[in-house]
Amino acid sequence: MALLTFLGAIQQVTGSCYLLESREGSRVLLECGMRQGRREEEQANEQPFPFDPASINAVVLSHAHLDHSGLLPRLVASGFRGPIFATHATCELIELMLLDSAHIQEHDAEWENKWRARLGKPEVKPLYNTVDTERALKRRQPLPYGQAHEVAPGISVTFHNAGHILGSAIVELEIHDHHLTRRLVFSGDLGNTCSPLMQDPTFLDRADVVLMESTYGDRDHRCSEETIDELAEILQQAHRDGGNVLIPSFAVGRTQDLLYYLGRFYHEGRLPQQAVFLDSPMANRANQIYARFHDQFDEQDRALIQQNGNGDLRKWLPPLRITASPEDSMAINRIKSGAIIIAGSGMCTGGRIVHHFKHNLWRSECHLVFPGFQAAGTLGRNIVDGAPTVRVLHQRIAVKAKVHTLGGFSAHAGQSQLIDWVSHFDHHPELYLVHGELEKMKVLQGELKSRLNWDANIPEPGEQIVI
Ligand SMILES: [Zn+2]
Repeated sequence: MALLTFLGAIQQVTGSCYLLESREGSRVLLECGMRQGRREEEQANEQPFPFDPASINAVVLSHAHLDHSGLLPRLVASGFRGPIFATHATCELIELMLLDSAHIQEHDAEWENKWRARLGKPEVKPLYNTVDTERALKRRQPLPYGQAHEVAPGISVTFHNAGHILGSAIVELEIHDHHLTRRLVFSGDLGNTCSPLMQDPTFLDRADVVLMESTYGDRDHRCSEETIDELAEILQQAHRDGGNVLIPSFAVGRTQDLLYYLGRFYHEGRLPQQAVFLDSPMANRANQIYARFHDQFDEQDRALIQQNGNGDLRKWLPPLRITASPEDSMAINRIKSGAIIIAGSGMCTGGRIVHHFKHNLWRSECHLVFPGFQAAGTLGRNIVDGAPTVRVLHQRIAVKAKVHTLGGFSAHAGQSQLIDWVSHFDHHPELYLVHGELEKMKVLQGELKSRLNWDANIPEPGEQIVI
C-alpha cells in the first residue's frame, strides 16, 4: 500500500503537486507546479516545500505549462537530485518555459530591489534564476508515450497522450508494494476534442484510483466550428473597416491553434489580411518545437499542414512574418491597416501586446480579439469588462477598437468530455477531482452522480489517501 498526498491544485487551478510514497520507501513527486494569479498565491511559491526535496527519488511531469512545472528550478535549488521524467516534447518545451520564467523572476527582483534600495530596505532574491533553471534542465529524462518505465524502486510510469498541448500526457503509475500492485491514473490536463492539432485524449480502462482535472467541470465549450466562423467574420469586418486586428495570445498552445486556423482561412481564400505578424520570440521557438514533433498532430490536420507546409506551421501560413528583434517589433507600429498582430502576453499583463495597444486600441477601425479567458484584475479583463479608458505603459488610452471574446478556443476538456473520458474506466475506480475551482468541481461531482451514478471525492489541501 502506498500513500498519496494532495499538495497542490487542490480546489484551485494552479500549483499542481502530488506526492506518492510507497511503504518500501520510494518517493515520487507528480508535478511541481507554480501557483499563479493573485499576489498571495504567488507568494505561496516562496514557502519551503512541505517535504524534503533531497528525499524524492524522481519527479514525473504531465506537461510543460508552468502551473505544472514552474517550481522545478526551485526544487533542484532546494536539494532534489533525481531525474525529471516527461515526454520528449515536454522536455523540449520546459526549456523554453522555465528559462522564460527565470528571466521574469530575475527581472521582477531587480525592479523591486531598485525601489527597496531607495527606501533603505534589504534586497530580495528572485524565486529562482537562470543558473538554477539550467541545473534543473540537466535532470530531464525523456520517455516515449506508451512504454512503462521504472522511475523509482517499485514504481513505474507510462505516459499516454492527453491531447492538451504538444507533449501533454495522462500519467499511469503502477505501484508494486509488498506483493500488491496498485494502479493510479492522473489525467493531467485533458485536451478539448474540438481543438485543432492535438489528438484526442487516450481512453484508459484500468485503474484503482483516478485523479481527474476539473477546470471546466461546470460547462461544455461552444463547438469550435462556430468560433472559427466568428473569427473569419471578424477578420472580414476589420478589413472593411480598414484597421488592424490584435490578438493577445499564450505562446505555447493557443498561438499554434491560431496559426492553424489562419492558415486554413488562407488556403480557403478567407483571409483578407496581407500580413500576419507573430510578435513573440517565445511563440516562434515553440513553433519550431511543434514542427519537430508534427508526427504527434491529429492525423487530418497533420495531412493538411504536411501537404501545404511540410509539417511546419510557419510555411502553412505564407503571410506569416516573424519579428525577431525589438526593432522589427517596433516597425509594426507604422502599419495602420491590413495586419493581424499576435503577441504575448495572453492576459495582457505585459509583453509586446501592450505596445501594440498603444498604437491601435484608441482607433475605432481596429479590432481586438481575445481568444480566451481573461483573469480578474488583468488589463485584458478590464477591456473585456468595457473600461472606456485603460492605463498602458504609463499612459491613459481610450478603448475605441471593437472588442471580441471567442469562447471556443479552450485547450481543456469541457464537462461532457471529462465525463466521457472517465466513463471508460471499468469498475468505477476511486475518483478524486483535482485542478479546478470548488464550485465547478461540485457541479461536476453532481453530474458524475446523476449521469454515471459515480461518487467523486473532492480532496482537501494536504489530505492523504492510501492507495
Ligand atoms: Zn495545462
